[in-house]
Amino acid sequence: MLEKGSRILVTGHRGLVGSAVVRRLKGSGFESVLNADRNAVDLRDSRGVDQWFDDNRPEFVFHVAGRVGGIWANSTQPADFLYDNLMMHATVLRAAWRTGVTKLLYLGSSCIYPRDCPQPIKEESLLTGPLEKTNDAYAIAKISGLMSCEAYRRQHGCNFISAMPTNLYGQNDNFHPEQSHVLPGLMRRFDEARKSGAESVTIWGSGSPRREFLHVDDLADACVFLMEHYNEPGTINVGTGVDVTIRELAETIRDVVYPEVKLTFDTSKPDGTPRKLLDVSRLEALGWRYRTSLKEGVRSTYDWYRSNQASLR
Ligand code: GDP
Repeated sequence: MLEKGSRILVTGHRGLVGSAVVRRLKGSGFESVLNADRNAVDLRDSRGVDQWFDDNRPEFVFHVAGRVGGIWANSTQPADFLYDNLMMHATVLRAAWRTGVTKLLYLGSSCIYPRDCPQPIKEESLLTGPLEKTNDAYAIAKISGLMSCEAYRRQHGCNFISAMPTNLYGQNDNFHPEQSHVLPGLMRRFDEARKSGAESVTIWGSGSPRREFLHVDDLADACVFLMEHYNEPGTINVGTGVDVTIRELAETIRDVVYPEVKLTFDTSKPDGTPRKLLDVSRLEALGWRYRTSLKEGVRSTYDWYRSNQASLR
C-alpha cells in the first residue's frame, strides 16, 4: 500500500503528466517523491537505469515518461517515437522487476486503440483492428509497454498495472506551433493572433473530428487512485466520457483567448481518427470521476500559459 513515507519514483517529472503526478503526490503529503532527472540518467539506457534503481530503490513507480507529440510530429518522426518509447519502458520495467518494486503504473494512450473501433472505446477493443496511420509507430511502442506489464505479471508475479488516458492538457504542456497536440497548439495560435490583432485563426483539418479532453490534474488524481485501488492485469481507461468536435474545441479556446477572431479551416491538413472517446464505465464503477470542465481547464491553462511565457516548450 502506498504510504506517506513510501519511496515513489515518477519518471518524466518535468513533462505534462509527470509534473502533475509529482504535484498531486506532494500536495497529499507524500514525502519521498523521487525523480530520475534527464541529467542523471537517460531512461533509454538500460545500464544507467539499472544503476539508478540499485542506488535509489524505489518501492512504487509511476512510469509516465514518454516521447509524445501531436499528429504532425507523430507522422513525420515515427522512428523516434517508436525507439524512445520502446526503450524507456523496456529499461524501466525490467529494472523495476529486478529490484522488487512493489507496484508500477504504466500509461498507454487512447490513440493506440484501432482506428475504427466502436465508440465509446472499451478496454476490450485493444488489438482488435488496424491502427490509425498517423501515429501507428507510437501506438506499437505503447502497446508493447502494456503487453510488458502483463508479461512481467504473468512470468514474475509483478504488480504492474496500466491505464489508458485520453487526450490530456494543462500546465507544462508542449505549446510548440507544429509539434504540439491540438489544444495547446490552438491556444498558442489564438494568443498570437490576439497579440498581432489578426482577423482570423486557421484550424487544421475540417473541424469535424471528435476528441475527448482530460485536464492533467484529473489524470494525476486518477493515477494515484489506481495505484491505491487497482490491481488487475488488464488496462483501464481514464477520461471524462464526454467529447467535442475540433470546431467546438476551437470555439471554446477562442472565447477564452480572443473572442473577436474568426475561424478558418485548412483541409489540406490531416484530420486523423474521426472520433476518439473512451468508455470510462470501468473506472467510474470503481468510484473515480473527473472534476475539471473543458471551459474551466482551458481558462486555467491559458492563465498558466500567459504567466510562463519564458519557460514554454
Ligand atoms: P490526434 O488526437 O492524435 O489526432 O492528435 P492532435 O491533438 O494533434 O489532433 C487532433 C485533431 O485536431 C486533428 O483532427 C487535427 O487535424 C486537429 N487540429 C486542428 N488544429 C490543430 C493544430 O493546430 N494542431 C494540432 N496538433 N492539431 C490540430
